[in-house]
Amino acid sequence: MSALTKYPHVFSPLDLGHTKIKNRILMGSMHTGLEDVPNAGERMATFFAERAAGGVGMIITGGIGPHPTAGMGAKLLNADDVALHRQVTDAVHAADADCKICMQILHTGPLAGTPDCVAPSAVKSRIGRFVPNELTEDGIEEQIAAFVRCATLAQEAGYDGVEIIGSAGYLISTFLVQMTNLRTDQWGGSWENRMRFPVEIVRRTRETVGKDFIIVFRISAMDMLQGGLAWEEVVSLGKAIEGAGASIISTHFCWHEAFVPTIATMVPRAAFAGVTGRLKKELGIPMITSNRINMPHVAEEVLARGDADIVSMARPMLADSQLVKKTLEGREDEINTCIACNQACLDHTFTGQMTSCLVNPRACRETELVVTPASTPKSIAVVGAGPAGLAYAVQAAERGHKVTLFDAGSEIGGQFNLAKTIPGKEEFYETLRYFSRTIEKLGITLKLNTRVDVAAIKAGGFDETVVATGIEPRVPELEGINHPKAVSYIDVIKGKAQVGQTVAIMGAGGIGFDVAELITHKGTSAALSIDVFAKEWGIDFQNHPRGGVTGVEPVVETSGREVTLLQRKAGAPGKTLGRTTGWTHRLTLQRKGVGMIGGVEYLKIDDEGLHTRVNGEPTLFAVDTVIICAGQLPLRGLYDDLVASGLKAELIGGAFEASELDAKRAIKQATELALAA
Ligand code: FAD
Ligand code: NAP
Ligand code: SF4
Repeated sequence: MSALTKYPHVFSPLDLGHTKIKNRILMGSMHTGLEDVPNAGERMATFFAERAAGGVGMIITGGIGPHPTAGMGAKLLNADDVALHRQVTDAVHAADADCKICMQILHTGPLAGTPDCVAPSAVKSRIGRFVPNELTEDGIEEQIAAFVRCATLAQEAGYDGVEIIGSAGYLISTFLVQMTNLRTDQWGGSWENRMRFPVEIVRRTRETVGKDFIIVFRISAMDMLQGGLAWEEVVSLGKAIEGAGASIISTHFCWHEAFVPTIATMVPRAAFAGVTGRLKKELGIPMITSNRINMPHVAEEVLARGDADIVSMARPMLADSQLVKKTLEGREDEINTCIACNQACLDHTFTGQMTSCLVNPRACRETELVVTPASTPKSIAVVGAGPAGLAYAVQAAERGHKVTLFDAGSEIGGQFNLAKTIPGKEEFYETLRYFSRTIEKLGITLKLNTRVDVAAIKAGGFDETVVATGIEPRVPELEGINHPKAVSYIDVIKGKAQVGQTVAIMGAGGIGFDVAELITHKGTSAALSIDVFAKEWGIDFQNHPRGGVTGVEPVVETSGREVTLLQRKAGAPGKTLGRTTGWTHRLTLQRKGVGMIGGVEYLKIDDEGLHTRVNGEPTLFAVDTVIICAGQLPLRGLYDDLVASGLKAELIGGAFEASELDAKRAIKQATELALAA
């Protein structure tokens, strides 16, 4: 079946009157950090041009500040800035003349992180650094003029349009919401007054840029905030923005301070598209929906249901710049799918690092990590088909090396086969599907059920060997560690160990948290059911109370097990989890009644349970089962044997360094090595 038959909605052009968008897939805005580097123009140009060549219909850039107080490193304020942006628009249009590119105008308002930050009222954001300065009426006029000027400069720089972000707790949205707008003048108080700021920005921008320039306005269709926008306000704002001259309305589902995950991996695919669908019924201009739409068939379903006119995929374009092209060519099974882990994108953004992608470390490093044909193709043995071995094997084969990939197990994936069974991590299956298909496509020789030793490497006559044998779980030295109550996390996840009703988990890193989730889980995974997700996070899609949230503490179903997570470090467990997702794991487990205790000294395990001292006090955890999640050690036996036999080998992944290892580091290290080989 051709792609046009299989994805009729995705590949139908959208007519905006003055121009057409060639398909319904949009690359959504992301702050990558490329905007802030010295050679920003070149790097942004390469990054976006690769995505344009990958077939996407329209691109929205990361946020660009319109005013010195915008809180963005990247601004568009003058002619010098225009020249930089011209590099980007020229590169995108050269890569595909039909690909549209719009620049996002972002004023972060109270989140600007500088003492001169501004807002309608001096209300500090929970996550902001400073109490914002209340704008005077003149100050408001100055800000509106700055948005308009920025749009004009974007037009001069060759953009096809702009996106004005009016959501997420940034400046525009703080005018809309009562609790952040305490003004009593014409910019505050009544709803008409509160929405005046965005409406004036759009109206005056349209007046200035003329009719043949795309204006997208991003609206918080559900801000997840108690006391946030009411549904009637969302509709009324949409109508007013349409009336003011916007070309397209994009729906956003977030306010950075809200306690509801909206893009993490435990959020079901397209969970919020129905809200866009409801708003679409009220408005006349095209609508964009977003959040957790990571595969073309999901986009097609959303469009076919009539929930939106365009589907925004932001992180999926980091994971695979060629997503649309692959879909068009019937190669969807080759898509490297975004697993919504946030580990290399959002977590990096929020810790001041350059954005990248766990499954695609080339993202945002396109000018550094270039895939070139190998000058001397070699025969390479890769031992271990976990994330490190897989990433190395496909990159080396892509470059023309002859790769043989071995694994002792019966399937590829290494520890990802454990991760994928954790409720909320179902997306990890996609990564394994991608690698499996790519191995086949690139003609990599795959030898499963094959434990490799020195003799096998010698017999293979390889030019090079890469050892990616991973890790072994650390077994703490502790009296009673071999007691029947003590079990390894591997056996628990594989279902090989009996887990009782009362459980202590020794070790509260990523795996300790995942194991706690697994053994307390009951019923359908929230990631697979919008209803379950809504219940677990207090969202009311039907009645849409203010912000879309009920405000009632959600009740999360559990297996009924009594579980306590322990760590030796003082303080609350969970601090090592991802910056943007850790809080969701902590909150979910707290809601399931999982205890979390730091400052624990382990003494022994016996028939009574786990004996400890907690902050110096003798404490017995009288549990049925003690699950050991105490980190890992590198598995380097093969490497040591190879070196002892005089053979040269490279070490990657957990076998190289197990401490603080995650798949992001394993895949990045493997990719860098393979591109240098
Ligand atoms: P491994 O995945 O351990 O793979 C090593 C492979 O080598 C195995 O398949 C093994 O069979 C094979 N092997 C070993 N010796 C031989 C031999 N002699 N011959 C042939 N084959 C051999 N990371 C994240 O970044 N994010 C997460 O959300 C995340 N969640 C996780 C959840 C769980 C439950 C677990 C267990 C891990 C999770 N991780 C996560 C960690 C991540 O899976 C590891 O960091 C990653 O798998 C390490 O990759 P690796 O290739 O170095 O090793
Ligand atoms: P980890 O995060 O390093 O945690 C290991 C835990 O074991 C810590 O709580 C540590 O805390 C404890 N520990 C260490 N040595 C110990 C000892 N000798 N005795 C008892 N306890 C000990 O490792 P992990 O949980 O095994 O996870 C492995 C990797 O997978 C991690 O790097 C993680 O990033 C990755 N992962 C990520 C996710 C994710 O969602 N991003 C999920 C799962 C796994 P104390 O020393 O304080 O006791
Ligand atoms: Fe998606 Fe994770 Fe890559 Fe971010 S790091 S783009 S969430 S796969």
